[in-house]
Amino acid sequence: MIGAGPGGLAAALQLTHAGAEVTVLEARDQVGGRCATMRADGFSFDTGPTFYLYPRILREIFQSIGRDIDQEIPMKRLDPQYTISFGEGGKLDCTPDLEEMDRQIGKLSPEDVGAVHRYINHNRVKLERFRPILESPFNSMLDLLRPSLLAAAPFVKPWKSLGHDLGSYFKDPRLVIAFSFQAKYLGMSPFRCPSLFSILSFLEYEYGVFHPYGGCGRVSERMAEIAEEMGCDIRISEPVRKLEFSGKKVTGVVTDQKTYETDAIVINADFAHSMQSLVPANLRSRWSDKNIAKKQYSCSTFMMYLGVEGTYPEQQHHTIHISRDYIGNLREIEKEKVLPTDPSIYIQNPCITDPSLAPSGKSAIYVLVPVPHLSPNTPWDSKQKAFYREVTLKRMEELGYTDIRKRIVYEKVVTPADWRDDFFVYRGATFNLAHNLGQMLHLRPHNKFEELDGVYLVGGGTHPGSGLPVIYESSRITCKQLLPDLGLPSKFIHDMKPMATSTPELIGS
Ligand SMILES: Cc1cc2nc3c(=O)[nH]c(=O)nc-3n(C[C@H](O)[C@H](O)[C@H](O)COP(=O)(O)OP(=O)(O)OC[C@H]3O[C@@H](n4cnc5c(N)ncnc54)[C@H](O)[C@@H]3O)c2cc1C
Repeated sequence: MIGAGPGGLAAALQLTHAGAEVTVLEARDQVGGRCATMRADGFSFDTGPTFYLYPRILREIFQSIGRDIDQEIPMKRLDPQYTISFGEGGKLDCTPDLEEMDRQIGKLSPEDVGAVHRYINHNRVKLERFRPILESPFNSMLDLLRPSLLAAAPFVKPWKSLGHDLGSYFKDPRLVIAFSFQAKYLGMSPFRCPSLFSILSFLEYEYGVFHPYGGCGRVSERMAEIAEEMGCDIRISEPVRKLEFSGKKVTGVVTDQKTYETDAIVINADFAHSMQSLVPANLRSRWSDKNIAKKQYSCSTFMMYLGVEGTYPEQQHHTIHISRDYIGNLREIEKEKVLPTDPSIYIQNPCITDPSLAPSGKSAIYVLVPVPHLSPNTPWDSKQKAFYREVTLKRMEELGYTDIRKRIVYEKVVTPADWRDDFFVYRGATFNLAHNLGQMLHLRPHNKFEELDGVYLVGGGTHPGSGLPVIYESSRITCKQLLPDLGLPSKFIHDMKPMATSTPELIGS
């Protein structure tokens, strides 16, 4: 396994359970990849994911290896899930209580009362139709003719973006944004993201937004601990430098320490980066360097991780502030590739739920600003970095984080250049290859990698895509193909189970 991100760890658990001898080689000095925990001066910050959605998939993976996720990783369902404030005015405390949502919607836009119920009911059917697609491999165009895909076809609406689809439920543009900004999980503008992804906000309202105690990074750490208890060999600070091949068949993995002989490898490292750095160009045609460069990539993120004096009890756990000119903001990020002048911003204040993340009387604050992936306009030299730090702190002050500058006792900034250099992410595109219809299903790099023998992919760069639930799902899809190839049983990996519509408020203790 190359990489100990969430996809790699989920695959390592299932492969080890099935009896495979698994070695995980991780370049960084900790597990978790983009979903790790940064610790400094008594503060703990999630590096990347903070919204833990749809725990069902990881629950089933744990069940399949004989573990109980509720015991291993206690989580709290958040209510409100998050607050959205709009630059144009108004805010929503988004709650799974739909009557209360309707009441708040009525205050913003009386003509939209009732629309949320219509949206939820339609998307319940839509998710049920799409589940077989999200849970099966797509290895060729013929897979598009599967009955499950044909049954889902009426919901695909390739001519409609997510934003336009939401416009058929909600008249007020702020409500369209409130139910489509989740395209951020894919690093895309809702107005370019396929309408299929209206299921993302549905997942939040129907199944909850969770906070795992200790943060999302703790989930990765616990997965690694369990994998090691089961006999998996996880080696951190051991970057893979090269792969060896006999023809198209992988035979060895080279690190600074040694060369490992192997029957198969699973690549969890960022797809575009690892192809170019590990697989010789003469072995790739569909995914040649030139073709990789031509693909579309997600946005990136400018991050601030702040340890601050005192607490902000009046601020919610998750707050999303939408730019005054949201469409202009998306254009700056995706088309013009310039730094947003009036950025949208997401702030996490998790200590109000989980005080263990900071020393007593202090807070760990996480700030994410969507920005373009690396381009000539964004060199992220020290001048640009300092400028954007100012823009971000000013916006935090406007949003009620009073005296934030004076209160900072620890600070770390991560720019798109850092995502590239420290996390090995191609163009710093934090959410991988974009999720347009031309780069999904069989057109995304296949879980059983189509250009080589014995090479499999897992994580946000393969099918179904980026975002923790589907990344965990990618591990099941990959393992179901790899285990039979190794002559090992894959039956324990669950096939689809019927959907349950309720989730307990509190999982674990
Ligand atoms: C800022 C941010 C916020 C996000 N927020 C959310 C959210 O709220 N909810 C959500 O569901 N998703 C979110 N995501 C998306 C996604 O869930 C994460 O990015 C996730 O961590 C991706 O997992 P992965 O399995 O693809 O692997 P990664 O996390 O990318 O891990 C890959 C691993 O491979 C290692 N590696 C790379 N090259 C080598 C090499 N040569 N040798 C050895 N190891 C190597 C890397 O060091 C890394 O540890 C967010 C992502 C980011 C960046």
